Amino acid sequence: MKVDYLRISLTDRCNFNCIYCRPYKRIKILNRADLLSFEEIVDFIRLVVKFGIRKIRLTGGEPLIRKGVIELINMISKIEEIKEISMTTNGAKLEEFASGLKKAGLSRINVSLDSLNEKKFTQITGYNGLSRVLRGIRIATEAGLNPVKINTVVLGGINDDEILDLVEFSQKNYLIVRFIEYMPINGMGNRKWYVSNEIVRNIIEKRWGKLKPVPFIGNGPARYFVTRESNIPVGFISFISHPFCKECNRLRLTCDGKLRPCLISDFEVDVKNALRSKRNREKNIGELFREAVDFKVKREKKFTGFDFKRAGKFMFQIGG
Ligand code: SAM
Ligand code: SF4
Repeated sequence: MKVDYLRISLTDRCNFNCIYCRPYKRIKILNRADLLSFEEIVDFIRLVVKFGIRKIRLTGGEPLIRKGVIELINMISKIEEIKEISMTTNGAKLEEFASGLKKAGLSRINVSLDSLNEKKFTQITGYNGLSRVLRGIRIATEAGLNPVKINTVVLGGINDDEILDLVEFSQKNYLIVRFIEYMPINGMGNRKWYVSNEIVRNIIEKRWGKLKPVPFIGNGPARYFVTRESNIPVGFISFISHPFCKECNRLRLTCDGKLRPCLISDFEVDVKNALRSKRNREKNIGELFREAVDFKVKREKKFTGFDFKRAGKFMFQIGG
C-alpha cells in the first residue's frame, strides 16, 4: 500500500449545516488554540514527505473560512516534494477566493453541490445561497482551477430526482460531476436516504444509453464514465456498494492535530503534542506516521464490514 495522499482539515467550523454531515445543535466547536497553526501544518508536511506524501487536499469544515488560507497554500507550494495541492469546498466563498487560490499554487478544486433548485439547496445545506455557489463555480473555472469537480451526495427522496439535471449542468459547464453514496457517518442523517450508485447509473443509462468507462482521473476512489453525448466524464464514489479500502491511499490530519488512517474508525494518533514539543520532534512524528500507516495496512487486511458509528466523529470534524 502506497500512502502518498494527505487530506488536511483546516477547521471544524462551517457556514453550512448539511443534513448528512453536521448536526445543527449537538456540536461543540474547537477553540482556536486547539487548532494546528499554519506553521505546524507546514512543519508536519515537511516531515512526512520523507515517507512518501506527495499530494495534499485541504478540507474541513469549510476550508475557505479559515483566515489566511491563501497564505497557507503559498507556504505548502514551496515544499518541493509536494506535487499537487487541491481543495474541497462548499463554494460559498469561491467567488472571493478563486483567483487568489490559483495564484498561490492550488491546482484543482472540488465543489460540493447537491441541488440546482434553490429551495432544495437551502433545505439540504441550511444556507440560502445557491446562486452564490454557482457564481463561485464559474469563477473557479475562469481562474483555471481545472478541472472543477462537483461532489453530489445523492439522497433518496430529496435530490435523487435531479441526477440528470446535474449531469446536464456539469457537461454544459465543463465540470466533472461525481455522485457520492451517502454514508451515515457517526449516525448522521437517515439511513433511508441511501441510494446505491448502481441506481444512479441506471437512471443515467436510461437517458443516454450504456456508459463507457474512462481511465482514472485524480487520486481517489472515483470511477469515471462518459455518456454517448459528451466526452466530459461522470464519476461515481461508491464507498458502501463497492468498498475501496484496498486501494485507499490517504491519511487524514484533523484540524486539532490527530492523524487518522481510516475515515470510519476512531483510531487516531496525536501529532499535535509531538509537533508542539521541541524534544525528538522529527523522530516522534516519524513513529506516529508509521503507526498510522501500520493501522491502515492491518485494517485493510482485516476489514469485515461497516460500522459507521465507530467513526466517533462527524464528517465535518474528520475532514470529509
Ligand atoms: N465543506 C467542504 C465541502 O462541503 O465541500 C469540505 C468538507 S466536506 C466534509 C467534504 C465532502 O464530504 C463533501 O463533498 C461532502 O458532500 C462529503 N460528505 C459529508 N458528509 C457526508 C456523508 N454523510 N456521506 C457522504 N459524503 C459526505
Ligand atoms: Fe459544511 Fe461541507 Fe459538512 Fe456541508 S458537507 S456541513 S459544507 S463541512
